[in-house]
Amino acid sequence: MNTPFNPFTLPGGEAPTCIEMLQLILDGESTREQLEYFVLHMEQCPPCFQSYEVDMQIRQLLKSKCCREAPSGLKEAIQIKLNGQINF
Ligand SMILES: [Zn+2]
Repeated sequence: MNTPFNPFTLPGGEAPTCIEMLQLILDGESTREQLEYFVLHMEQCPPCFQSYEVDMQIRQLLKSKCCREAPSGLKEAIQIKLNGQINF
C-alpha cells in the first residue's frame, strides 16, 4: 500500500508529529491539501480525532457564550481565577 504524500512534511523532509499537524489545522493555517490529509489521518488516529473534537467543542462553546450577554462580574471572576491558577 502506498503511503500518500504527507503535505505537512517539513522543508527538511522530516515527518511532522500529530501535534504539529493539529496545531496548523486548529490555527486555521493549513492548506486545503493539509486539511484533506488530516481528515483521513484522523480516521486512523483516535488521539488526533479526539483532540480535534474537543477543541472544536470548546471553540463553539466560547463562541456561543461570547454572543450572549455575560453576567456582570463573570469576566472579572474568570480572569481572577485564571491569574490565580497560572503557576508555570
Ligand atoms: Zn495523529
